[in-house]
Amino acid sequence: MTEQQTDTSTVGDCDTDADSASDTDSASDADAARVVIVGGGVAGLTAATFTARAGLDTLVVDTVGGSPAGGRTESGDADPSGDRRASGDLDESILARNAHLENVPGFPGGINARQFLDLLAEQAEENGARRRTGRVADIVRGNNGFEVRAVARDDDTRRFRADAVVAASWSDASYLHGLGVETREAGSKEYVVVDEVGRTNVDGVYAAGRIAEKYHQAIVAAGHGAEVGLTVVHDSDVPYYHDWVTPEGYFTDRGREVPPGCEEIDADERARRHAAGRERMREALADPHPEPQRTHPSLVDDELGRLNE
Ligand SMILES: Cc1cc2nc3c(=O)[nH]c(=O)nc-3n(C[C@H](O)[C@H](O)[C@H](O)COP(=O)(O)OP(=O)(O)OC[C@H]3O[C@@H](n4cnc5c(N)ncnc54)[C@H](O)[C@@H]3O)c2cc1C
Repeated sequence: MTEQQTDTSTVGDCDTDADSASDTDSASDADAARVVIVGGGVAGLTAATFTARAGLDTLVVDTVGGSPAGGRTESGDADPSGDRRASGDLDESILARNAHLENVPGFPGGINARQFLDLLAEQAEENGARRRTGRVADIVRGNNGFEVRAVARDDDTRRFRADAVVAASWSDASYLHGLGVETREAGSKEYVVVDEVGRTNVDGVYAAGRIAEKYHQAIVAAGHGAEVGLTVVHDSDVPYYHDWVTPEGYFTDRGREVPPGCEEIDADERARRHAAGRERMREALADPHPEPQRTHPSLVDDELGRLNE
């Protein structure tokens, strides 16, 4: 938790414990959150970072149990065995097929795309988002928010309750049909129709990234994920200005309170965070990424398109 995160029990009227969810929804095993994000790829993980940092209890449900690297950053009920199959079929962020990611700001020499996805997952978790494994099959509106039903690796149905849902699940929008979310079909693809900040026609349901018909680029998906995450925050009861970390005195020495969402840090804390940040990147990039390169699954005899090099 970062300092600017607040206790969700004090910022909203949402119950975030499973018992209260089961009082109002049919799911006795509901795992409740303020925000459930469907899809832990580029857009979903970035949206999760922003909603979690604003203090909204956030749960990411993805077909794989964590990062494409499998195991390194898994948490919650993610599968530690390395078998990342969530249900009958395998799926993961489409970015895992990239051979070298060279157009994401901040990486002038490019970066291994699977490493980049790992870093996004770590960042979401570091900021308080939880991750769960499952292919979301449908969503229904309960008495108290949405009930999200996902099929897990063992074919069990898992239920999650949420006040808000963000669809970041390229390329599956089928689970939104029952809610009456407007979509647009284009050939074999189905896009979710959103307004300029990511809201669908159904209150409390948002979409981010490629599924919202944004350009098919990682940074665009990340940017849209951030934007939609912030829309969720602004639509909630969380007091919020900007997600900014500033030097000590930036606001207060000008007679202002530190605005909600912002944080002032002193020189010692700044030095500590800079050092920790450098160390994290050194560790992350010290060795080649362990996962095999992917290609289109139709080209090789492997569900994930893993190349045998
Ligand atoms: C071969 C290739 C190379 C590329 N190279 C580049 C490049 O060099 N630079 C660049 O900018 N972009 C590149 N891209 C594009 C980039 O990967 C995408 O634009 C970006 O990943 C889209 O992000 P997203 O979050 O919308 O979708 P994704 O990153 O694909 O994430 C979607 C997530 O949702 C999950 N999901 C789907 N359905 C469900 C469900 N029902 N329940 C739960 N989870 C679900 C998926 O498993 C996945 O983890 C490339 C794409 C490909 C295919």
